Amino acid sequence: MLCACVLSLCVFSSCSGGKVQEFSRTELMLGTVCRITITAPESKRFDGDSALEAAFAKIADIERRISRLSPDTELSRINAQAGVAPVVVSEDTFKIISTAFDYAVLTDGAFNPAIGPLVSLWGINTENENIPTEEDISQMLPLLDWRSVELDEAARSVFLPVEGMSLDLGGIGKGYAADEVGTLLRERGVSSALINLGGNILVIGSRGDGQPWRIGVQDPDDDRGVYFLSLTLTDGSIVTSGPYERFFEQDGVVYHHILDSATGYPAETHIASVSLLGTSSTAADALSTATFVLGLDRSLRLLESLPDVDGVFLLDDGTVHMTDALYRDTDRWRIATDQYRIVRFQPLPR
Ligand code: AMP
Ligand code: MG
Repeated sequence: MLCACVLSLCVFSSCSGGKVQEFSRTELMLGTVCRITITAPESKRFDGDSALEAAFAKIADIERRISRLSPDTELSRINAQAGVAPVVVSEDTFKIISTAFDYAVLTDGAFNPAIGPLVSLWGINTENENIPTEEDISQMLPLLDWRSVELDEAARSVFLPVEGMSLDLGGIGKGYAADEVGTLLRERGVSSALINLGGNILVIGSRGDGQPWRIGVQDPDDDRGVYFLSLTLTDGSIVTSGPYERFFEQDGVVYHHILDSATGYPAETHIASVSLLGTSSTAADALSTATFVLGLDRSLRLLESLPDVDGVFLLDDGTVHMTDALYRDTDRWRIATDQYRIVRFQPLPR
């Protein structure tokens, strides 16, 4: 069995001029590598260490609320009370859960926050990776009914009506955390920073040298650190996801970590990598997970209907597809290899 957990993005952030101070810290949190870099003009008195301290405390706080791995998080309490009683949660936790359900509605369940039982069954990225039996899977499917989850905004409570149901926010939590850290740093006066939570990137402003941040997107078919695409980014987020990030292989078949709650199996997809860009990292995170279930055409249609999200898809056949606004913004991106061919998006007739 092979398990790979690869960070998909790299940042080219050399600062010229030497007139900036850079503060950077890396921690293992949210089940991934979290790196935050803040730059500030040398002329400015700025306590970068305390800003980093506050940023990582924020991530730790989010993890304490929404992780499924530890039994005393608010999310675990909701899951433990499935079929028993509604659980009242903090405002922040209610906000992330209700946002996750907004994306379930928007993607017609392709993004499913109630996917917990299936994630546990497959055990992807745990020591229990295995291919469940057909019977196990069919028994599990009724427990994935996100529409039956009761969110009571006035009471700030969440109720999973059937025992065995469970929420899993792994597909949105890093994006949410990136947005929260971005807000916190801006409130502290930070005007240039790069927040990279396991490939969920949010940048504040531009680089220390005034140039836009330049982000490299991992080539899923090549060694780690080889990029097939680079993009510029100023004040925004880019989230990359792909089956190559977390998977196991058995008898020559690859089983990846994004599951289709209609079938109970890893989403059957020709998408090798997707990167979504927008102001909200939460949106880019949830939607990038959903694209593997939706497939290319439905994903592009959905993205074209949203004002603030763009996307780049690399398919298994080596074709690259983009939302139209990004496709036209040719100064913004560069394909690093002629191995891949850009295809202009032509929606299928409805
Ligand atoms: P990401 O890396 O953001 O694409 O999210 C993948 C993670 O989201 C998985 O490891 C699961 O925890 C969770 N997940 C898997 N399938 C789905 C799905 N269909 N909807 C929502 N979350 C999912
Ligand atoms: Mg995601």
